[in-house]
Amino acid sequence: MSVIYDRVALIGLGLIAGSMSLALREAGLASEVTGYARSAETRDTAREIGLCDRICDTAAEAVAGADLVVLCVPVGAMGDVMAEIGPHLAPGATVTDVGSVKQSVIDAVQPHMPQGAHFIPGHPLAGTEHSGPRAGFATLFRNRWWLLTPLPDTDADALDRLNRCLAGIGAKTDVMEPAHHDLVLAVTSHAPHLIAYTMVGVADHLQRVSGEEVIQYSAAGFRDFTRIAASDPTMWRDVFLHNKEATLDILGRFTEELFVLQRAIRMGDGQQLFDYFSRTRAIRRGIIDAGQDTAAPDFGRGVTKT
Ligand code: NAP
Repeated sequence: MSVIYDRVALIGLGLIAGSMSLALREAGLASEVTGYARSAETRDTAREIGLCDRICDTAAEAVAGADLVVLCVPVGAMGDVMAEIGPHLAPGATVTDVGSVKQSVIDAVQPHMPQGAHFIPGHPLAGTEHSGPRAGFATLFRNRWWLLTPLPDTDADALDRLNRCLAGIGAKTDVMEPAHHDLVLAVTSHAPHLIAYTMVGVADHLQRVSGEEVIQYSAAGFRDFTRIAASDPTMWRDVFLHNKEATLDILGRFTEELFVLQRAIRMGDGQQLFDYFSRTRAIRRGIIDAGQDTAAPDFGRGVTKT
């Protein structure tokens, strides 16, 4: 594949940035990938494992001369990071981000964008429960959606170039309104994570009553919850604080549905339970048919780094 950007700068060096760097370099899409993380420990690890072509000790140095800058920090840190790098961006540079929430990131980043630079917010729908510079792998984005929420005055050429780059690392891109993105993700990702955190919390309380049985005999359903509930606490704290309205809306609906099922169980209404579970089973089949998961019975637990 041919070079699309001369220099790509990754700010924040965790799972997503690490995976991007490995994928960009493997596909030959950038002449140089630079990286910066706030802690010396992360920068040292990144240097040790050769995560980028060059690890810089300041964000300003990392973005100098970059034609694509990718903000890969928690959602709540995007505004401060952008304020720091804004004065050092190359003329005409494109800035994108990978934050799991879009409207609040736009509100935080946009005021710090210098004249002539292009901000194209984005969100890869790919990840694992692991974090940090060692967690990345080049195939993370392969056949995964990468949603972009361009602003009304987005430069068409800058958008096209970013699209080609993301396609080059295997992602499928789509465009959405930021508020719509935040609602869709509240349903498909944010509320499910909160439910998983809650369920594991319930088991944790129960474990204090029943000793080690919760862990020893944990069935597949609970193990999947624990995997999700092992996700990075900082990232997820920020997601809920910054997608408050949509998440609360979906959790309200969730609570209503829960009461419906609770009542069906109490009343012994087997038909209602059967019909409900048949509908949800069809949704799972739809996800598999769309190529977003496999039908393997241990889905989610066998994430392989290939
Ligand atoms: P990660 O592995 O935890 O790495 C986060 C990076 O951000 C680290 O380099 C960390 O620096 C830096 N950072 C943390 N707090 C910061 C702060 N206050 N100021 C400046 N830098 C800070 O995270 P990740 O999973 O790659 O997630 C990065 C972004 O991608 C988040 O916005 C998240 O919402 C989004 N995202 C994540 C997933 C997923 O499944 N993980 C999926 C899609 C999108 P130090 O190492 O120096 O502390």
